Amino acid sequence: MSAREAELAANLDRVRARVADAERAAGREPGSVSLVVVTKFFPASDVRLLAGLGVTDVGENRHPEARDKKADCEDLGLRWHYIGGLQSNKAGQVAAYADVVESVDRAKLLARLDRAAGERGVALEVLLQVGLDSGRTDGAEVGADRAGVEPEDLPALADAVTACEHLVLAGLMAVAPLGEDPATAFDRLAGIRAGFLADHPGATTCSAGMSGDLEQAVAAGATHVRVGSAILGSRPSTH
Ligand SMILES: *Cc1c(COP(=O)(O)O)cnc(C)c1O
Repeated sequence: MSAREAELAANLDRVRARVADAERAAGREPGSVSLVVVTKFFPASDVRLLAGLGVTDVGENRHPEARDKKADCEDLGLRWHYIGGLQSNKAGQVAAYADVVESVDRAKLLARLDRAAGERGVALEVLLQVGLDSGRTDGAEVGADRAGVEPEDLPALADAVTACEHLVLAGLMAVAPLGEDPATAFDRLAGIRAGFLADHPGATTCSAGMSGDLEQAVAAGATHVRVGSAILGSRPSTH
């Protein structure tokens, strides 16, 4: 086993134990929370080692790096989650290779995603990224550039997805706002999700929680956590 493989294996064990502890603490079924390992910034060789360690789902946030990495790892049979910001003019290109697009936050993306999924001959799973900035009670400044659909616009966006022939509305995704207690933010998400599930009972995926706040996300009902740095290490320097 290479030093890198040993490092990834040890980190993965720690994160899997954290997820299991969080499931137990929340009274949830063991194994009910899936791990998406966020491999952004890291090479395809790490993806390959992770697959060998039993990882089935990986997350990437940049096109075209994600496309190229998937092409290098085509033989591994992994599920690729696109979790990054989507430009309208790139949405179709992302839908040409992603298995799940987690960061859908506006209706403008849908026609291109739908067309590309149709051309590929797949039913493409999408998650709606919900912005958790509004409703903060800690008085913090809300960044205007944060991604995510406003909760009041979520029902219309969800309906627009269900109207697309080649898209499958699978659930919600969120990122806890910087500087806010993630438990408070994820409680807000749980409330938004309850209303959403009443209208879309099959869209049960809830992707929330990262290296620093996966416990709070699991407590609030996340079905998927997206963990990068706790497994791969901090971002490698680029020079
Ligand atoms: C980078 C990223 C993650 C993983 O974050 P870590 O703190 O490295 O675990 C999760 N979700 C999104 C949307 C990301 O961009």
